[in-house]
Amino acid sequence: MSAKGCIFDIKEMAVFDGPGIRTTVFFKGCPLSCSWCHNPEGMGFARQLIVSLSSCAHCGRCGAACPLPASAVPAASAASLPEIPVGCTLCGACIRVCPRGIRRIAGDEYTAKELAALLLRNAEYLKNNGGGFTVSGGEPAAQGEFLVELLRRLRGNHRAIETSAFCTKEIFTELLRELELVMMDIKIADPCLHKKFTGQDNSVILSNLEQLKKSGKPFIIRVPLIPGVSDTKENLDSIAALLDKKGALQKVELLPYHKTAGAKYGMAGMEYRPNFDTGQIPNGRTEYFLERDIPCSVL
Ligand code: SF4
Ligand code: SF4
Repeated sequence: MSAKGCIFDIKEMAVFDGPGIRTTVFFKGCPLSCSWCHNPEGMGFARQLIVSLSSCAHCGRCGAACPLPASAVPAASAASLPEIPVGCTLCGACIRVCPRGIRRIAGDEYTAKELAALLLRNAEYLKNNGGGFTVSGGEPAAQGEFLVELLRRLRGNHRAIETSAFCTKEIFTELLRELELVMMDIKIADPCLHKKFTGQDNSVILSNLEQLKKSGKPFIIRVPLIPGVSDTKENLDSIAALLDKKGALQKVELLPYHKTAGAKYGMAGMEYRPNFDTGQIPNGRTEYFLERDIPCSVL
């Protein structure tokens, strides 16, 4: 039987996730834990309760409806917000009673066949507008078997991926066979710093980058500019050097860190704890790429 995938969002009419107008599918779960991640819904692989706390009316109905022991359910008052209880079973009782409609479960499970059928309803429109489908996350390659099957079912359409390339060589090879465009992050060139700030060594990422360069597949490299971490001269120069034999590289995009990155953590019952100076303005140094004849811009 086909593996099921877990998806936390499907965005239609997307215009920044590849060429033309696209439908972007957000895969739940990521094996990295980047200190600057702005999307906590995409971090964990399991379905989870999300609450848009800023719109809470403090009515307390969620706590009253929750079947968990009272000790596990912090009450909402005028002064406090309803926290997500430890041991939440995703039963949905609180969602049904919330008068503001601000509680939801993130993570819908599909077979590749079901998801492809849903996406292909708009295929003609997307094709007529120079677009197609983009898989993003979280890290889509972390649900590799499901993703490869989904991409096969979307053949005949433009298929792009936003990925860290932190996946096995075998999965990456399969993905390169299917995709029309790869948008790959390279965050930090130094392996020790990469581990410190993302939780993982980057050797598999750099090896997949070599495979990507040799494949002839069109690709874009994206570098998040994290102040004092990835925006340094040493890091950007090292990344540019990695791209020197550039294959079908179209361009490099530098993405400055935004202070709002931590805004959604409370909604997922998580705490935002960046281990770098969020007060600094990131350096948008394009020169290391431009001097190697690699098109580069700061987004
Ligand atoms: S979804 Fe979680 S928080 Fe809501 S009622 Fe069920 S157990 Fe309680
Ligand atoms: S039911 Fe909704 S509005 Fe009322 S306290 Fe809970 S989250 Fe807030």
